[in-house]
Amino acid sequence: MMRDVQPTASHFIDGRYVDDTAGRLIESIYPATGDVVARLFSATPSIIEQALASAVRAQKEWGALKPVVRGRVLRKAADIVRARNRELSEIETLDTGKPIQETLVADAASGADALEYFAGLAATMTGETIPLGGDFVYTIREPLGVCVGIGAWNYPTQIACWKAAPALAAGNAMIFKPSEVTPLGALKLAEILMEAGAPAGLFNVVQGYGDVGAALVTDPRVAKVSLTGSVATGKKVYAAAAAGMRHVTMELGGKSPLIVFDDADIDSAVSAAINANFYSSGQVCSNGTRVFVHDAIRPNFLDKLVQRTANAVIGDPLDEATHVGPLVSEAQRNKVLGYIETGKAEGAKLLIGGRVPPSQNSGFYVEPTVFADVTDDMTIAREEIFGPVMAVLGFSDEADVIARANATEYGLAAGVFTADLARAHRVIGQLEAGTCWINTYNITPVEAPFGGVKLSGVGRENSRAALDHYSQIKSVYVATGPVAAAY
Ligand code: NDP
Repeated sequence: MMRDVQPTASHFIDGRYVDDTAGRLIESIYPATGDVVARLFSATPSIIEQALASAVRAQKEWGALKPVVRGRVLRKAADIVRARNRELSEIETLDTGKPIQETLVADAASGADALEYFAGLAATMTGETIPLGGDFVYTIREPLGVCVGIGAWNYPTQIACWKAAPALAAGNAMIFKPSEVTPLGALKLAEILMEAGAPAGLFNVVQGYGDVGAALVTDPRVAKVSLTGSVATGKKVYAAAAAGMRHVTMELGGKSPLIVFDDADIDSAVSAAINANFYSSGQVCSNGTRVFVHDAIRPNFLDKLVQRTANAVIGDPLDEATHVGPLVSEAQRNKVLGYIETGKAEGAKLLIGGRVPPSQNSGFYVEPTVFADVTDDMTIAREEIFGPVMAVLGFSDEADVIARANATEYGLAAGVFTADLARAHRVIGQLEAGTCWINTYNITPVEAPFGGVKLSGVGRENSRAALDHYSQIKSVYVATGPVAAAY
């Protein structure tokens, strides 16, 4: 039986569920069937005001606590998330359509890792003392204040945790607006943080379309905005934040290269290419969607790739045997099918997939799809598709493939497969990307900084670096002698 995921109300503000049915309707649709599983309402100005006012109040209380006490709350939240992993994973699957096989390990679980990691770091945020020969300066890392998190629909629970954990550890409050396509997971995080002992108002969730995000970003009480989404939205949100000189973290799109040299372990490289393109039906910002394979091994690589892709189990996301679920929405499926048609029309060779699977007559499914003979100028090699569509390109020369890998306005991620470690480091050193892998792909532990260069974003999530992006330095000069003046 399918779990009932209709929340008590649309928004979670000041420690409780609230609603205002005057807001525009938001429907959470289960992408595997097209059924509406929850109905919510977009935030009205009154809801947004409640969220801001309570966050300002809660931040003052929270920011004044000893950091180790803040850490204790986050640690408890991590434990609750882990204890409720099955329930949270099922909600995530119903909200996004991602297979339960994935959501059980990659969503709430990754969120719990972030809560646990930043719980531990909270009390380690210290300043420094700078001696000046008698006088001295000390610095304090202070919270920014009220931060706004805006999420995309591909990893709704993980994104909420990746933003909330460092923000709260550093003493901030957060107002989180999920994508209207996936409104459910963040509400559960809000419940759990309350249960763990966070003050009411510290983590508020408001639902809404882009206009709600825009209203939050421009409010004078907001000190920082962290967005995960497309480059187009990122440019708008960055510009709106700049008007108030707000801090930003932008986690945006990519068209990342995965380069496989002729000495690579081919089976591992094929595994990585599969994970880098078909996990979450390809709806992952860091995906390695341009797979450059050395000419000497390309036929062998493609044979293995096609054979293994044919083994993918496409089906009911709630069945633990399913590898590939639907895309998040009908609009996203149609967009992906459009790119597949463009790929064929521009002369790429379709090796496998490319269709709505015949066995799935409801839901927003697209088969895992591999195109070979792709050239750099083709649309499918240049634009972020955000679906299960892999483009395989050939190369023979190291310098040439580096130049081609970098010939994009994006710079989120990159991967290199080779047995020659000197080459691996040499190549990675020249790739314009913020997050790189050698002989693996798309592993994003909370301990490692994650983020992009060029149009893929600014700032870093995860790791100690995230705390820098949620705090600011106060510098205090201390005089120890009398003050002289010229007159
Ligand atoms: P968007 O980038 O449009 O949306 C991301 C978030 O920003 C959503 O919560 C959205 O709300 C919100 N938003 C939109 N406009 C504004 C605004 N002016 N001010 C403040 N917040 C705003 O992603 P979409 O969900 O529309 O997806 C579109 C495409 O973006 C996808 O097809 C994919 O290619 C790419 N994408 C990339 C992601 C990545 O991580 N690289 C993640 C998600 C999408 P709302 O959804 O209500 O409009």
